[in-house]
Amino acid sequence: MTLNPTELPELTELERIIHEGAAHLEARVVCRVASGERHFPVYAITLGNPSPEIPAVGFFGGVHGLERIGAEILVAYLHSLVMRLQWDTMLHRQLESVRMVFMPIVNPGGMWQGTRANPNGVDLMRNAPLEARERVPFLIGGQRLSARLPWYRGPLDGPMELESQAVCQVVKDELLGRTFSVSLDCHSGFGIRDRIWFPYAHTIQPIHHLPEIFALKEIFDQTNSSHRYIFEPQSRQYLAHGDLWDYLYQNADNESARSFLPLTLEMGSWEWVKKNPRQMFSRQGIFNPLIEHRLQRVLRRHIAWFDFLTRAACSHDRWMPTSMDRGSFQKRALKQWYGMRSS
Ligand SMILES: [Zn+2]
Repeated sequence: MTLNPTELPELTELERIIHEGAAHLEARVVCRVASGERHFPVYAITLGNPSPEIPAVGFFGGVHGLERIGAEILVAYLHSLVMRLQWDTMLHRQLESVRMVFMPIVNPGGMWQGTRANPNGVDLMRNAPLEARERVPFLIGGQRLSARLPWYRGPLDGPMELESQAVCQVVKDELLGRTFSVSLDCHSGFGIRDRIWFPYAHTIQPIHHLPEIFALKEIFDQTNSSHRYIFEPQSRQYLAHGDLWDYLYQNADNESARSFLPLTLEMGSWEWVKKNPRQMFSRQGIFNPLIEHRLQRVLRRHIAWFDFLTRAACSHDRWMPTSMDRGSFQKRALKQWYGMRSS
C-alpha cells in the first residue's frame, strides 16, 4: 500500500474500514478539529443492536496524540471484526445482544503534530471540570500555568475542548442510558506492565461500583488464569485534576440501577518500540508491512481482553453482584486495593 505522506495513516485506514464495513456498521463524524491548515474528522463507529435496552461496550483511543498504539490496535481490532462479519454467524448473534461503540482516534490533531496534547496544547485527560480532592503531583497532576508545558488543563472556567466534548457526547448518547455499559480507553507509556485502571483519579476514595469492578476482574481471572494485567484504581499510581472518565462516571446516574464502568488500558510493556523506535514514530511507518506484524502481536496480546469485555457486557446479568452479595465483593475489593482490613 502506498501512502500519501501528508495523510494521517491511522485515519486513512479507519476510513477505509468504515467504507469496507458499511453494510455492518454506522459511522458519524462527531466533531472536526483543526491543526494549522489541516482539518481532521473525529469518528464514532457503532455496530450491533441500537436498542437502549441492550448493554454496550465502548472502545476509545488516541486521546493522547503521542500514544498512537492505542488508536492503532483499536483500528486493527475494528478491522478484524469487520472481516469476521463476512462469515462469522456467532459474531452476528452476539451483536444482536450487545452494542459496540468505537472512537479510536479522539485526538487526530495531536497525532498529526506528534504531541500528547490536542492542537490547543490541552491534555484531554486533564480537561474535565473536576478538581482533585487531595494533593496532586506537580505538573503531571494537571496544571494551568501554560499550554507550553505538558499536562495543561485548559483555561479556568473555559469550555471543554471539542474532542473532550465529543467523547462526553458519545458516552452520553451511546453508553449512559443503558442498564449496563463498560468502556475501555487505550493508552500507553506508563510503567513496564500492562495495567487496567478504574476510577477514581481525582481522589483516593473508592467508586460506588467497586463491587462490580471486583466481580468483573474475578471472572476475567477465572477465565484467563495467567493473564498479565495489573488491575488497580488509578489513584494508586497518581492523582490528577480533570480526568475525563472520573467526570463522566460522576455524571452518570450511579444511584439508579444503571452501571457504567469506565476502564483504562495502560499498555506498559511496549517492547516493540524498543526494537524499532525510529520507524515507530514516523507517520508512514505504522501501516507498512515491516511494522504490521508487530502491531498484530500487540493486538494479539489484548484481543482476548477486548473480546472478554464485549462478552462480559453482553452477559452482565450472569456475573454482576446481586444486592445480597455486593457487601462481600466490596470487602474483598477494599482489602485488595485500598489496604483496608475486612472486619
Ligand atoms: Zn495517555
